[in-house]
Amino acid sequence: MENENIPCWTIDLPVRRRKSREVMVGKLAIGGDNPVRIQSMTNTDTMDTKATVEQCLRLVDVGCELVRITASNVQAAENLYNIKNELSRRGCDVPLVADIHFNPKAAEVAAAIVEKVRINPGNYTDRNTGKYDYTEQEYADELQRTADRLYPLIQVCKKHSTAMRIGINHGSLSERVMGRYGDTPYAMVMAAMEFINICRQMDYNDLVLSMKSSNVKVMHYATRMLAAMMQQEGFDYPIHLGVTEAGNAREGRIKSMTGIGSLLALGIGDTIRVSLTEAPENEIPVARQIREAYSHIGISGRGDVTLKLKPEFRIRRTPVDIASCRQFSLSEHSPEEILYALKNEPVAARIVQGKNKEISTARLAGDSAALIMESAVETLELNDSELTADILQATGERIYKAEFIACPSCGRTKYDIQSALEQVKKRCSHLKGLKIAVMGCIVNGPGEMADAHYGYIGSREGKVHLYRAKQLVCSNVDEKEAVDRLVEMIKQDGKWQEE
Ligand code: SF4
Repeated sequence: MENENIPCWTIDLPVRRRKSREVMVGKLAIGGDNPVRIQSMTNTDTMDTKATVEQCLRLVDVGCELVRITASNVQAAENLYNIKNELSRRGCDVPLVADIHFNPKAAEVAAAIVEKVRINPGNYTDRNTGKYDYTEQEYADELQRTADRLYPLIQVCKKHSTAMRIGINHGSLSERVMGRYGDTPYAMVMAAMEFINICRQMDYNDLVLSMKSSNVKVMHYATRMLAAMMQQEGFDYPIHLGVTEAGNAREGRIKSMTGIGSLLALGIGDTIRVSLTEAPENEIPVARQIREAYSHIGISGRGDVTLKLKPEFRIRRTPVDIASCRQFSLSEHSPEEILYALKNEPVAARIVQGKNKEISTARLAGDSAALIMESAVETLELNDSELTADILQATGERIYKAEFIACPSCGRTKYDIQSALEQVKKRCSHLKGLKIAVMGCIVNGPGEMADAHYGYIGSREGKVHLYRAKQLVCSNVDEKEAVDRLVEMIKQDGKWQEE
Protein backbone atom coordinates (compact mmCIF):
# COMPACT_ATOMS: atom_id res chain seq x y z
CA MET A 1 0.00 0.00 0.00
CA GLU A 2 1.42 3.36 -0.96
CA ASN A 3 0.33 6.73 0.33
CA GLU A 4 0.58 9.59 -2.14
CA ASN A 5 0.31 12.30 0.50
CA ILE A 6 3.38 11.39 2.49
CA PRO A 7 5.22 14.60 3.36
CA CYS A 8 8.94 15.19 3.02
CA TRP A 9 11.11 16.50 5.85
CA THR A 10 14.48 18.09 6.06
CA ILE A 11 16.81 17.08 8.84
CA ASP A 12 20.12 18.57 9.80
CA LEU A 13 22.21 15.44 9.99
CA PRO A 14 24.55 16.00 12.88
CA VAL A 15 28.17 15.13 12.35
CA ARG A 16 28.08 15.18 16.10
CA ARG A 17 25.76 12.71 17.71
CA ARG A 18 22.06 13.56 17.70
CA LYS A 19 21.24 15.27 20.97
CA SER A 20 18.95 13.16 23.12
CA ARG A 21 17.76 13.41 26.69
CA GLU A 22 19.17 11.09 29.33
CA VAL A 23 16.77 8.33 30.39
CA MET A 24 17.61 6.30 33.49
CA VAL A 25 17.07 2.55 33.34
CA GLY A 26 17.80 1.65 36.94
CA LYS A 27 21.34 2.90 37.44
CA LEU A 28 22.14 2.86 33.72
CA ALA A 29 21.81 6.15 31.85
CA ILE A 30 20.82 5.93 28.17
CA GLY A 31 21.17 8.89 25.79
CA GLY A 32 22.64 12.29 26.58
CA ASP A 33 26.43 12.20 26.58
CA ASN A 34 26.59 8.58 27.68
CA PRO A 35 28.29 5.94 25.54
CA VAL A 36 26.12 3.93 23.18
CA ARG A 37 24.72 1.20 25.42
CA ILE A 38 24.84 -2.47 24.47
CA GLN A 39 21.95 -4.80 25.11
CA SER A 40 20.78 -8.32 24.37
CA MET A 41 17.93 -10.68 25.16
CA THR A 42 17.77 -14.08 26.82
CA ASN A 43 16.38 -17.06 24.92
CA THR A 44 15.68 -19.28 27.91
CA ASP A 45 12.23 -20.10 29.30
CA THR A 46 11.42 -17.18 31.64
CA MET A 47 9.91 -19.66 34.11
CA ASP A 48 13.28 -21.38 34.33
CA THR A 49 14.84 -18.99 36.84
CA LYS A 50 18.16 -20.81 37.07
CA ALA A 51 18.79 -21.01 33.31
CA THR A 52 17.71 -17.38 32.78
CA VAL A 53 19.92 -16.10 35.62
CA GLU A 54 22.91 -18.09 34.30
CA GLN A 55 22.41 -16.64 30.83
CA CYS A 56 22.08 -13.09 32.21
CA LEU A 57 25.36 -13.55 34.10
CA ARG A 58 27.13 -14.83 30.97
CA LEU A 59 25.85 -11.81 29.04
CA VAL A 60 27.02 -9.36 31.69
CA ASP A 61 30.42 -11.07 31.82
CA VAL A 62 31.06 -10.25 28.15
CA GLY A 63 29.87 -6.63 28.37
CA CYS A 64 26.07 -6.57 28.05
CA GLU A 65 24.70 -3.53 29.90
CA LEU A 66 20.96 -4.21 29.71
CA VAL A 67 19.22 -7.60 29.47
CA ARG A 68 15.77 -8.12 27.96
CA ILE A 69 13.65 -11.09 29.01
CA THR A 70 10.35 -12.13 27.44
CA ALA A 71 7.26 -11.89 29.65
CA SER A 72 4.67 -13.66 27.54
CA ASN A 73 2.07 -13.86 30.33
CA VAL A 74 1.42 -12.67 33.87
CA GLN A 75 3.07 -15.72 35.41
CA ALA A 76 6.29 -15.09 33.45
CA ALA A 77 6.13 -11.39 34.39
CA GLU A 78 5.82 -12.35 38.06
CA ASN A 79 8.83 -14.65 37.78
CA LEU A 80 10.98 -11.66 36.85
CA TYR A 81 10.92 -10.94 40.57
CA ASN A 82 12.69 -14.26 41.31
CA ILE A 83 15.16 -13.70 38.48
CA LYS A 84 15.98 -10.23 39.74
CA ASN A 85 16.41 -11.42 43.32
CA GLU A 86 18.67 -14.28 42.33
CA LEU A 87 20.80 -11.96 40.18
CA SER A 88 21.09 -9.56 43.07
CA ARG A 89 22.02 -12.41 45.44
CA ARG A 90 24.83 -13.26 43.01
CA GLY A 91 26.04 -9.66 43.03
CA CYS A 92 24.62 -8.64 39.64
CA ASP A 93 22.53 -5.48 39.35
CA VAL A 94 22.22 -5.37 35.54
CA PRO A 95 18.98 -3.58 34.60
CA LEU A 96 16.31 -5.89 33.20
CA VAL A 97 13.77 -5.16 30.46
CA ALA A 98 10.50 -7.07 30.14
CA ASP A 99 9.56 -7.81 26.54
CA ILE A 100 5.80 -7.63 26.04
CA HIS A 101 3.56 -8.62 23.16
CA PHE A 102 -0.26 -8.84 23.29
CA ASN A 103 -0.50 -8.69 27.07
CA PRO A 104 -0.99 -5.31 28.83
CA LYS A 105 -1.58 -7.04 32.17
CA ALA A 106 1.85 -8.74 31.99
CA ALA A 107 3.36 -5.33 31.22
CA GLU A 108 1.75 -3.77 34.29
CA VAL A 109 3.02 -6.58 36.53
CA ALA A 110 6.54 -6.46 35.04
CA ALA A 111 6.78 -2.66 35.25
CA ALA A 112 6.59 -2.88 39.04
CA ILE A 113 9.53 -5.33 39.11
CA VAL A 114 12.07 -4.52 36.38
CA GLU A 115 13.74 -1.28 35.27
CA LYS A 116 12.19 -1.05 31.81
CA VAL A 117 9.36 -2.52 29.74
CA ARG A 118 9.40 -2.86 25.99
CA ILE A 119 5.98 -2.70 24.38
CA ASN A 120 5.04 -3.11 20.72
CA PRO A 121 2.35 -0.62 19.62
CA GLY A 122 1.39 -3.01 16.80
CA ASN A 123 0.04 -5.56 19.23
CA TYR A 124 -0.31 -3.88 22.62
CA THR A 125 -4.03 -3.31 22.20
CA ASP A 126 -4.79 -3.52 18.48
CA ARG A 127 -6.06 -6.89 17.27
CA ASN A 128 -5.96 -7.64 13.57
CA THR A 129 -9.42 -8.45 12.24
CA GLY A 130 -9.01 -7.61 8.55
CA LYS A 131 -10.34 -4.05 9.00
CA TYR A 132 -8.13 -1.45 7.30
CA ASP A 133 -10.62 1.34 6.57
CA TYR A 134 -11.55 3.59 9.46
CA THR A 135 -13.61 6.76 9.40
CA GLU A 136 -12.09 9.72 11.22
CA GLN A 137 -14.41 9.05 14.15
CA GLU A 138 -13.65 5.32 14.26
CA TYR A 139 -9.92 6.03 14.12
CA ALA A 140 -10.18 8.58 16.95
CA ASP A 141 -12.23 6.12 19.03
CA GLU A 142 -9.66 3.36 18.52
CA LEU A 143 -6.85 5.69 19.51
CA GLN A 144 -8.74 6.65 22.67
CA ARG A 145 -9.26 2.97 23.45
CA THR A 146 -5.49 2.45 23.05
CA ALA A 147 -4.79 5.40 25.36
CA ASP A 148 -7.21 4.06 27.98
CA ARG A 149 -5.39 0.71 27.86
CA LEU A 150 -1.95 2.32 28.10
CA TYR A 151 -2.70 4.71 31.00
CA PRO A 152 -2.52 2.00 33.74
CA LEU A 153 0.93 0.91 32.52
CA ILE A 154 2.15 4.53 32.48
CA GLN A 155 0.89 4.95 36.05
CA VAL A 156 2.87 1.90 37.19
CA CYS A 157 5.97 3.14 35.33
CA LYS A 158 5.72 6.58 36.92
CA LYS A 159 5.23 5.12 40.38
CA HIS A 160 8.26 2.80 40.09
CA SER A 161 10.48 5.06 37.90
CA THR A 162 10.39 2.39 35.22
CA ALA A 163 11.46 3.34 31.70
CA MET A 164 9.59 2.25 28.57
CA ARG A 165 10.73 1.37 25.08
CA ILE A 166 8.15 1.97 22.39
CA GLY A 167 9.48 -0.65 20.01
CA ILE A 168 8.00 -0.66 16.52
CA ASN A 169 8.51 -3.74 14.36
CA HIS A 170 7.83 -3.39 10.65
CA GLY A 171 6.41 -6.91 10.60
CA SER A 172 3.79 -6.27 13.26
CA LEU A 173 2.23 -2.95 12.37
CA SER A 174 -1.48 -2.90 13.16
CA GLU A 175 -4.03 -3.01 10.33
CA ARG A 176 -5.45 0.26 11.69
CA VAL A 177 -2.11 2.04 11.18
CA MET A 178 -1.34 0.38 7.82
CA GLY A 179 -4.81 1.26 6.53
CA ARG A 180 -4.09 4.92 7.18
CA TYR A 181 -0.36 5.26 6.44
CA GLY A 182 0.45 2.27 4.22
CA ASP A 183 2.90 -0.56 4.88
CA THR A 184 5.74 1.97 5.00
CA PRO A 185 8.50 3.39 7.21
CA TYR A 186 6.18 6.39 7.58
CA ALA A 187 3.52 4.14 9.17
CA MET A 188 6.15 2.84 11.62
CA VAL A 189 6.97 6.40 12.68
CA MET A 190 3.32 7.40 13.01
CA ALA A 191 2.60 4.32 15.16
CA ALA A 192 5.39 5.45 17.50
CA MET A 193 4.19 9.06 17.53
CA GLU A 194 0.70 7.95 18.64
CA PHE A 195 2.19 6.19 21.66
CA ILE A 196 4.60 9.04 22.44
CA ASN A 197 1.70 11.48 22.48
CA ILE A 198 -0.31 9.28 24.85
CA CYS A 199 2.69 9.11 27.22
CA ARG A 200 3.15 12.88 27.03
CA GLN A 201 -0.51 13.44 27.93
CA MET A 202 0.40 11.86 31.28
CA ASP A 203 3.66 13.81 31.50
CA TYR A 204 5.63 10.57 31.22
CA ASN A 205 8.92 10.98 29.37
CA ASP A 206 11.17 8.07 30.35
CA LEU A 207 10.95 6.81 26.80
CA VAL A 208 13.28 5.11 24.33
CA LEU A 209 12.16 4.54 20.73
CA SER A 210 13.07 1.92 18.15
CA MET A 211 12.17 1.15 14.53
CA LYS A 212 13.15 -2.41 13.68
CA SER A 213 12.88 -4.44 10.51
CA SER A 214 14.67 -7.38 8.95
CA ASN A 215 15.09 -5.15 5.90
CA VAL A 216 18.11 -2.88 6.46
CA LYS A 217 16.73 -0.12 4.25
CA VAL A 218 13.35 -0.04 6.01
CA MET A 219 15.04 0.05 9.42
CA HIS A 220 17.44 2.79 8.30
CA TYR A 221 14.85 5.06 6.68
CA ALA A 222 12.25 4.57 9.43
CA THR A 223 14.80 5.47 12.11
CA ARG A 224 15.97 8.57 10.26
CA MET A 225 12.40 9.62 9.69
CA LEU A 226 11.69 9.13 13.39
CA ALA A 227 14.69 11.32 14.27
CA ALA A 228 13.45 13.96 11.81
CA MET A 229 9.88 13.85 13.10
CA MET A 230 11.01 14.07 16.73
CA GLN A 231 13.27 17.01 15.87
CA GLN A 232 10.32 18.74 14.24
CA GLU A 233 8.12 18.13 17.30
CA GLY A 234 10.84 19.17 19.77
CA PHE A 235 11.14 15.62 21.24
CA ASP A 236 14.56 14.33 22.25
CA TYR A 237 14.00 10.72 23.34
CA PRO A 238 16.92 8.31 22.92
CA ILE A 239 16.84 5.87 20.02
CA HIS A 240 17.61 2.16 20.15
CA LEU A 241 18.96 0.52 16.98
CA GLY A 242 18.80 -3.03 15.67
CA VAL A 243 18.18 -5.11 12.57
CA THR A 244 15.68 -7.71 13.62
CA GLU A 245 15.80 -11.32 12.37
CA ALA A 246 19.31 -10.74 10.98
CA GLY A 247 20.13 -14.47 11.03
CA ASN A 248 23.45 -15.95 12.07
CA ALA A 249 27.13 -16.27 11.16
CA ARG A 250 28.75 -13.78 8.79
CA GLU A 251 25.49 -12.72 7.10
CA GLY A 252 23.85 -11.85 10.42
CA ARG A 253 26.88 -9.86 11.53
CA ILE A 254 27.25 -7.89 8.30
CA LYS A 255 23.52 -7.15 8.20
CA SER A 256 23.68 -5.72 11.72
CA MET A 257 26.86 -3.79 10.92
CA THR A 258 25.24 -2.16 7.88
CA GLY A 259 21.92 -1.33 9.59
CA ILE A 260 23.25 -0.14 12.94
CA GLY A 261 26.49 1.35 11.54
CA SER A 262 24.72 3.31 8.80
CA LEU A 263 22.80 5.20 11.49
CA LEU A 264 25.62 5.61 14.02
CA ALA A 265 27.68 7.01 11.13
CA LEU A 266 25.08 9.78 10.86
CA GLY A 267 25.08 10.44 14.60
CA ILE A 268 21.80 8.61 15.33
CA GLY A 269 21.56 5.95 18.05
CA ASP A 270 21.96 5.73 21.82
CA THR A 271 21.67 2.00 22.42
CA ILE A 272 22.08 -1.04 20.17
CA ARG A 273 21.32 -4.71 19.92
CA VAL A 274 22.84 -7.11 17.42
CA SER A 275 20.29 -9.96 17.05
CA LEU A 276 21.80 -13.28 16.04
CA THR A 277 20.27 -16.75 15.86
CA GLU A 278 23.07 -17.98 18.09
CA ALA A 279 23.82 -17.96 21.80
CA PRO A 280 23.00 -14.38 22.93
CA GLU A 281 26.53 -14.06 24.36
CA ASN A 282 27.83 -14.09 20.77
CA GLU A 283 25.97 -10.84 20.06
CA ILE A 284 27.99 -8.74 22.48
CA PRO A 285 31.45 -8.80 20.83
CA VAL A 286 29.82 -7.76 17.52
CA ALA A 287 27.93 -4.94 19.22
CA ARG A 288 31.18 -3.81 20.85
CA GLN A 289 32.95 -3.78 17.48
CA ILE A 290 30.19 -1.60 16.03
CA ARG A 291 30.25 0.77 18.99
CA GLU A 292 34.03 1.01 18.79
CA ALA A 293 33.88 1.75 15.05
CA TYR A 294 31.77 4.85 15.78
CA SER A 295 33.26 5.95 19.08
CA HIS A 296 34.57 9.08 17.30
CA ILE A 297 31.03 10.37 16.68
CA GLY A 298 30.33 13.17 19.10
CA ILE A 299 33.96 14.03 19.48
CA SER A 300 35.18 15.30 16.12
CA GLY A 301 32.62 17.16 14.07
CA ARG A 302 33.10 19.41 11.08
CA GLY A 303 29.69 20.97 10.46
CA ASP A 304 26.17 20.07 9.45
CA VAL A 305 24.94 18.52 6.25
CA THR A 306 21.35 19.21 5.28
CA LEU A 307 19.74 16.39 3.36
CA LYS A 308 16.22 15.91 2.14
CA LEU A 309 14.72 12.90 3.80
CA LYS A 310 11.95 11.25 1.87
CA PRO A 311 10.13 8.21 3.14
CA GLU A 312 10.54 6.20 -0.05
CA PHE A 313 13.80 4.65 -1.16
CA ARG A 314 15.77 6.70 -3.64
CA ILE A 315 17.88 4.50 -5.80
CA ARG A 316 19.56 6.21 -8.72
CA ARG A 317 19.83 3.91 -11.66
CA THR A 318 21.11 6.23 -14.38
CA PRO A 319 23.98 4.51 -16.18
CA VAL A 320 27.22 6.38 -15.67
CA ASP A 321 30.72 6.15 -17.03
CA ILE A 322 32.75 4.82 -14.11
CA ALA A 323 35.80 6.75 -15.30
CA SER A 324 33.92 10.02 -14.79
CA CYS A 325 32.94 9.16 -11.19
CA ARG A 326 34.47 11.23 -8.46
CA GLN A 327 36.54 8.96 -6.21
CA PHE A 328 36.33 9.01 -2.40
CA SER A 329 38.31 6.89 0.00
CA LEU A 330 36.70 5.61 3.20
CA SER A 331 40.07 5.72 4.90
CA GLU A 332 40.24 9.48 4.28
CA HIS A 333 36.62 10.64 4.26
CA SER A 334 33.72 10.13 6.60
CA PRO A 335 30.25 9.58 5.04
CA GLU A 336 29.34 13.14 6.11
CA GLU A 337 32.34 14.58 4.27
CA ILE A 338 31.46 12.62 1.14
CA LEU A 339 27.81 13.65 1.29
CA TYR A 340 28.83 17.24 1.99
CA ALA A 341 31.13 17.22 -1.04
CA LEU A 342 28.39 15.74 -3.23
CA LYS A 343 25.67 18.06 -1.95
CA ASN A 344 26.27 20.89 -4.37
CA GLU A 345 27.79 18.77 -7.07
CA PRO A 346 25.55 15.78 -7.74
CA VAL A 347 28.04 13.61 -9.61
CA ALA A 348 28.34 9.85 -9.27
CA ALA A 349 30.74 8.69 -6.58
CA ARG A 350 33.16 5.80 -6.69
CA ILE A 351 33.79 4.67 -3.11
CA VAL A 352 37.04 2.84 -2.44
CA GLN A 353 38.60 1.59 0.78
CA GLY A 354 41.82 3.57 0.45
CA LYS A 355 45.23 2.78 1.85
CA ASN A 356 45.93 5.43 4.43
CA LYS A 357 44.75 3.63 7.52
CA GLU A 358 43.30 0.38 8.75
CA ILE A 359 39.53 0.49 8.93
CA SER A 360 37.52 -2.10 10.82
CA THR A 361 34.97 -4.30 9.04
CA ALA A 362 32.22 -2.70 11.13
CA ARG A 363 33.25 0.78 10.01
CA LEU A 364 33.53 -0.24 6.34
CA ALA A 365 30.08 -1.83 6.48
CA GLY A 366 28.43 1.08 8.31
CA ASP A 367 30.02 3.86 6.25
CA SER A 368 29.32 2.09 2.95
CA ALA A 369 25.70 1.47 3.96
CA ALA A 370 25.21 5.12 5.02
CA LEU A 371 26.29 6.20 1.53
CA ILE A 372 24.26 3.48 -0.21
CA MET A 373 21.15 4.71 1.64
CA GLU A 374 21.74 8.20 0.22
CA SER A 375 22.15 6.78 -3.30
CA ALA A 376 25.61 8.33 -3.15
CA VAL A 377 27.45 5.22 -4.34
CA GLU A 378 27.83 4.29 -7.96
CA THR A 379 30.53 1.69 -7.35
CA LEU A 380 31.75 0.26 -4.08
CA GLU A 381 35.27 -1.16 -4.24
CA LEU A 382 36.67 -2.48 -0.98
CA ASN A 383 39.91 -4.43 -0.77
CA ASP A 384 37.93 -7.52 0.21
CA SER A 385 35.56 -8.37 -2.65
CA GLU A 386 33.63 -10.85 -0.49
CA LEU A 387 32.91 -8.08 2.01
CA THR A 388 31.80 -5.77 -0.80
CA ALA A 389 29.35 -8.43 -2.01
CA ASP A 390 28.08 -9.07 1.52
CA ILE A 391 27.44 -5.36 2.13
CA LEU A 392 25.59 -5.03 -1.17
CA GLN A 393 23.49 -8.12 -0.38
CA ALA A 394 22.79 -6.98 3.21
CA THR A 395 21.54 -3.61 2.01
CA GLY A 396 19.50 -5.18 -0.79
CA GLU A 397 21.51 -3.44 -3.52
CA ARG A 398 22.53 -6.69 -5.24
CA ILE A 399 21.35 -10.25 -4.74
CA TYR A 400 24.01 -12.98 -4.98
CA LYS A 401 22.44 -15.78 -2.94
CA ALA A 402 19.40 -16.73 -0.89
CA GLU A 403 18.48 -14.43 1.99
CA PHE A 404 17.64 -15.84 5.40
CA ILE A 405 15.43 -14.02 7.86
CA ALA A 406 15.83 -15.68 11.26
CA CYS A 407 14.83 -14.45 14.68
CA PRO A 408 17.26 -14.66 17.60
CA SER A 409 14.68 -16.81 19.49
CA CYS A 410 13.47 -16.12 23.02
CA GLY A 411 11.52 -17.81 25.80
CA ARG A 412 8.70 -18.50 23.32
CA THR A 413 10.86 -20.79 21.13
CA LYS A 414 10.13 -24.49 21.65
CA TYR A 415 12.40 -26.14 19.08
CA ASP A 416 16.07 -26.09 18.12
CA ILE A 417 16.05 -23.01 15.89
CA GLN A 418 19.84 -22.66 15.73
CA SER A 419 20.34 -26.10 14.23
CA ALA A 420 17.28 -25.66 11.96
CA LEU A 421 18.74 -22.44 10.53
CA GLU A 422 22.09 -24.16 9.93
CA GLN A 423 20.40 -27.03 8.06
CA VAL A 424 18.16 -24.76 5.99
CA LYS A 425 21.16 -22.62 5.02
CA LYS A 426 23.21 -25.69 4.11
CA ARG A 427 20.50 -26.95 1.77
CA CYS A 428 19.22 -23.66 0.33
CA SER A 429 21.98 -20.99 0.33
CA HIS A 430 22.53 -21.35 -3.41
CA LEU A 431 18.92 -20.49 -4.28
CA LYS A 432 19.69 -16.97 -5.46
CA GLY A 433 16.83 -14.53 -4.97
CA LEU A 434 14.79 -16.69 -2.55
CA LYS A 435 14.01 -15.35 0.91
CA ILE A 436 13.46 -17.99 3.59
CA ALA A 437 12.35 -17.18 7.13
CA VAL A 438 13.25 -19.39 10.09
CA MET A 439 11.34 -18.12 13.10
CA GLY A 440 10.98 -19.17 16.72
CA CYS A 441 7.24 -18.93 17.37
CA ILE A 442 3.84 -18.54 15.77
CA VAL A 443 2.95 -15.58 18.00
CA ASN A 444 5.24 -13.18 16.11
CA GLY A 445 6.86 -15.39 13.47
CA PRO A 446 4.25 -15.19 10.67
CA GLY A 447 4.07 -11.37 10.89
CA GLU A 448 7.78 -10.84 11.28
CA MET A 449 8.78 -13.10 8.38
CA ALA A 450 8.01 -10.05 6.25
CA ASP A 451 8.07 -10.74 2.51
CA ALA A 452 9.83 -14.12 2.73
CA HIS A 453 8.90 -16.65 0.04
CA TYR A 454 8.93 -19.53 2.55
CA GLY A 455 8.55 -19.69 6.30
CA TYR A 456 9.77 -22.34 8.77
CA ILE A 457 8.11 -21.39 12.04
CA GLY A 458 8.09 -23.12 15.44
CA SER A 459 4.53 -24.07 16.42
CA ARG A 460 4.95 -26.05 19.64
CA GLU A 461 7.40 -28.37 21.41
CA GLY A 462 9.55 -29.89 18.62
CA LYS A 463 7.03 -28.99 15.89
CA VAL A 464 7.15 -26.61 12.97
CA HIS A 465 4.62 -24.94 10.63
CA LEU A 466 5.72 -24.48 7.00
CA TYR A 467 4.48 -21.47 5.04
CA ARG A 468 4.49 -20.49 1.41
CA ALA A 469 4.63 -16.69 1.67
CA LYS A 470 1.92 -15.87 4.26
CA GLN A 471 -0.03 -19.07 3.60
CA LEU A 472 0.20 -21.97 6.06
CA VAL A 473 0.87 -25.13 4.01
CA CYS A 474 1.96 -27.85 6.51
CA SER A 475 1.05 -27.78 10.22
CA ASN A 476 2.99 -29.22 13.14
CA VAL A 477 5.63 -31.08 11.13
CA ASP A 478 8.11 -32.92 13.34
CA GLU A 479 11.31 -30.84 13.40
CA LYS A 480 13.33 -33.91 12.29
CA GLU A 481 11.48 -33.96 8.95
CA ALA A 482 10.73 -30.28 8.50
CA VAL A 483 13.82 -29.27 6.47
CA ASP A 484 13.20 -32.12 3.96
CA ARG A 485 9.55 -31.05 3.66
CA LEU A 486 10.60 -27.46 3.05
CA VAL A 487 13.01 -28.51 0.29
CA GLU A 488 10.25 -30.69 -1.28
CA MET A 489 7.90 -27.71 -1.27
CA ILE A 490 10.48 -25.49 -3.01
CA LYS A 491 11.06 -28.24 -5.60
CA GLN A 492 7.32 -28.68 -6.22
CA ASP A 493 7.07 -24.92 -6.80
CA GLY A 494 9.74 -25.19 -9.52
CA LYS A 495 12.08 -22.86 -7.61
CA TRP A 496 14.87 -25.33 -6.95
CA GLN A 497 18.20 -24.80 -8.71
CA GLU A 498 20.96 -27.38 -8.71
CA GLU A 499 24.22 -26.14 -7.14
S1 SF4 B 1 9.60 -14.47 16.57
FE1 SF4 B 1 11.39 -15.27 17.70
S2 SF4 B 1 12.19 -13.58 18.97
FE2 SF4 B 1 10.13 -12.98 18.22
S3 SF4 B 1 8.75 -13.58 19.92
FE3 SF4 B 1 8.83 -15.34 18.48
S4 SF4 B 1 10.51 -16.65 19.19
FE4 SF4 B 1 10.73 -14.67 20.26
